[in-house]
Amino acid sequence: MYTRVKTDKEIAAMRVAGKICADVLKLVKNSAVPGISTKELSEIAAKEIKSLGAKASFLGYKDFPEAICISLNDEVVHGIPSKDKIIKKGDIASFDLGVTYDGMIVDSAISCLINSKDKEKLLLLEKTELSLMEGIHQIKHNCRVGDIGSAIQKILDRAKYGIVRDLVGHGVGHAVHEEPNIPNYGYGNSGPLLKKGMTVAIEPMATMGDHEVFVGSDGWTIKTRDGSLSAHYEHTVLVTDDGHEVLTISDS
Ligand code: MG
Ligand code: MG
Repeated sequence: MYTRVKTDKEIAAMRVAGKICADVLKLVKNSAVPGISTKELSEIAAKEIKSLGAKASFLGYKDFPEAICISLNDEVVHGIPSKDKIIKKGDIASFDLGVTYDGMIVDSAISCLINSKDKEKLLLLEKTELSLMEGIHQIKHNCRVGDIGSAIQKILDRAKYGIVRDLVGHGVGHAVHEEPNIPNYGYGNSGPLLKKGMTVAIEPMATMGDHEVFVGSDGWTIKTRDGSLSAHYEHTVLVTDDGHEVLTISDS
């Protein structure tokens, strides 16, 4: 399904979902200290989402078993929380969360470096987040998907990072994944048009090495083929007449 122009009521629900998503991601990030398992972090997320009157969109999506995806180091996305996966000092932890409120879905992700000031790792996070913001900056009524991908690619190419190609941004709102796909590379003024009232998830995934990834033995976790470290940032964004509104943010 191509992402639909949302009604005012649907957009209002997505704003609420977006704030909850941002608040829960912040809580998970602050809880991610050395020694805690990713399963415990997932439980913290699940409890908070429920207490805020929302639902975890990924739980049960294609039988995904947890409330949040947590991916460590060479894991790019879709890591399954486990009691056997313990957060360590120096880990890059990526948290990817979908929240459903009043039937509407938002999708957002952050990466963080656990208890370390490693410059190379921090630079990977910083540039990946910057590429997300540059991609978002292109969004307005009648922009094209290639405008977004090209802006993201420019930042990550310049920093000499690998850009994961097998996974892409997407429309979102009524379903977790709606068309169009929004690659993190491409050419400006190419690809499908975005119209005001559409909602899209922009999500660059960068690696310190090559772009190639594979699905791990659990059938979910996507890892870098060369074992290089990876980062992932994502926001759900509303296309507006003269620009955009990032929905997955919190004012608190
Ligand atoms: Mg996501
Ligand atoms: Mg997504």
